[in-house]
Amino acid sequence: MGKKIVFISNDICRQDENGHYHLYGSICKKCGHKSYPASSFCTSCLSQEQEIYDLKEEGEIYSYTITRVQPPYGHFPVPHPIAYISIPESEARVTAPLFMEDEGHFQIGAKVKMEFSVYWEEEDQIVIGPKYRIVQEGGCTHA
Ligand SMILES: [Zn+2]
Repeated sequence: MGKKIVFISNDICRQDENGHYHLYGSICKKCGHKSYPASSFCTSCLSQEQEIYDLKEEGEIYSYTITRVQPPYGHFPVPHPIAYISIPESEARVTAPLFMEDEGHFQIGAKVKMEFSVYWEEEDQIVIGPKYRIVQEGGCTHA
C-alpha cells in the first residue's frame, strides 16, 4: 500500500483539477483587497464577498535564517533554511523553507520560485508543502 500524502496545511494550499498545488489567498469582490492566508471577510472594507486567488509562484527573499537545532515538533531535517518570501504581484508574504542545496545563494533580494516538495517522510505518510528554490541571485532591495 502506498504512503498517504499529507499537505502541510489545507488552509493555505490547494490542489487544482490538474493535480498542481498552489498557495492561495482571498480577494475582496467589493474593493479588491487581497489577504493571505485567505480570510472570510475583507480586512479593509469588512465585506464578506471574497473569492480565492492563487499566489504567483515567483517571489524574492525578504529575509531568511537557517535553523541548526532540531525543533521539538515536526521532522524537518537540520540544518533547515526558512525564508520570508515577498510576492509583490500577489500582495503577500509567505514563510516557507528554502532548498538547503541552494545555501551558497541565500541572499536578501534573491529571486525564488515555489515548488511543492517533500518536507519529511513518516512510516505511513509523506508530508509535503511549499518550498522555494533560488532562480536568480539578487542584491538587497530593502533596508
Ligand atoms: Zn474589501
